[in-house]
Amino acid sequence: MNVLVLNCGSSSAKFAVIDASTGAEAITGIAQRLGTAHATLDWKHDGKKHSRDLHHADHAVALREMVELLRDARLVEGLAGVGHRVVHGGAKFSGSMPITEEVEAKIRECIPLGPLHNPPNLEGITISRELFPHLPQVAVFDTAFHQTMPSRAYLYAVPYEWFEKHEVRRYGFHGTSHRYVSGVAVERLHLDPANHALVTCHLGNGCSLAAVENGRSMDTTMGLTPLDGVVMGTRSGSIDPSIVSHMKKALHRSAEDVMDALNRKSGLLGISGLSNDMRTLQEAADAGHERAALAIDKFCHSVAKAAAGMVVSLGRLDALVFTGGIGENAVQVRGRIVELLGFLGLRLDPAANAVHGRGQDGRITLPGGPQAIVTPTNEELMIAIDTAAIIAGGARSAA
Ligand code: AMP
Repeated sequence: MNVLVLNCGSSSAKFAVIDASTGAEAITGIAQRLGTAHATLDWKHDGKKHSRDLHHADHAVALREMVELLRDARLVEGLAGVGHRVVHGGAKFSGSMPITEEVEAKIRECIPLGPLHNPPNLEGITISRELFPHLPQVAVFDTAFHQTMPSRAYLYAVPYEWFEKHEVRRYGFHGTSHRYVSGVAVERLHLDPANHALVTCHLGNGCSLAAVENGRSMDTTMGLTPLDGVVMGTRSGSIDPSIVSHMKKALHRSAEDVMDALNRKSGLLGISGLSNDMRTLQEAADAGHERAALAIDKFCHSVAKAAAGMVVSLGRLDALVFTGGIGENAVQVRGRIVELLGFLGLRLDPAANAVHGRGQDGRITLPGGPQAIVTPTNEELMIAIDTAAIIAGGARSAA
């Protein structure tokens, strides 16, 4: 069953046509810098890469262009539905949902929780319904997987009315990725689907960890927003909240300005003063750049410390799972994190780590203790699978 997967961000629209049963991608692409003079459309079809200027295109123009590409590739007729990535479902959604008026209204109600992401997600839904009025549309939420967390994991120790009246709690993100890679890990390591304990580490530009017990999220590092948790590319991760009022006074700036710095000028970029990109930092650190080395050191410490915390939420550990651009590729970072967690019984296999565990089911540890494995994430495939399941009548059991 072919599904169009759409992921609309504030200035971008990612798309893919995926066969939900085989995972085959008929076409993939991304429109970027939408709303600027430099908007572009890049896509891959039949093994070839293509690119086109979109000039001042907005989301509507870009998605119309995408439909033309799908028409040229004769992919429109075979589409069974459209699956949308929706970032914030609050506590309203614990699984993927067919998009009805009611569901759309609830996604809108979650805008205060996801002010940057939900509006473009909703715009994508609106445009897609106009473009494909005959196709079912499905919403797949980043937050839904984490709705199984117990209250001790999702509550912040703040006045309880903040939770009751203002929805202040940990929601968690990257849920589609954590769900996907935990499923892969269970298969690869031949674990019992009803009896396993995993810590999944999604380490990309944004980073989060999840404690997954028997397929259910028990804890995660991101919180009310994706700013919480471990050190990221440009985000600080968890800090003392007093820093906000302190820096507001010190810099004579607004709280919004300080929050902006925590979101966009902190993390690896903030410490290194050089880049948010792990590749650049590794090269610089190798060449003697001290703050690049410090940023990497802080990153590994932050992830390892959080992983150990996730183990508390599980009470045991079968495996640590690495995914995302850094998790899949950064050999030294992964090696360091596994070494820092050696006290849990993980023993790094340096040779396997050097080749990202290829050839041995993704394993990068020696036998005998908890394992660590590397596996690429595939959020788009997960969205396609959920969408196909809902269309086929499996509805929310998909999540
Ligand atoms: P993502 O957001 O999942 O695309 O991940 C982006 C992050 O992955 C950036 O920090 C990249 O520098 C990092 N990354 C991608 N490829 C590599 C690589 N070969 N070695 C180290 N880091 C990498």
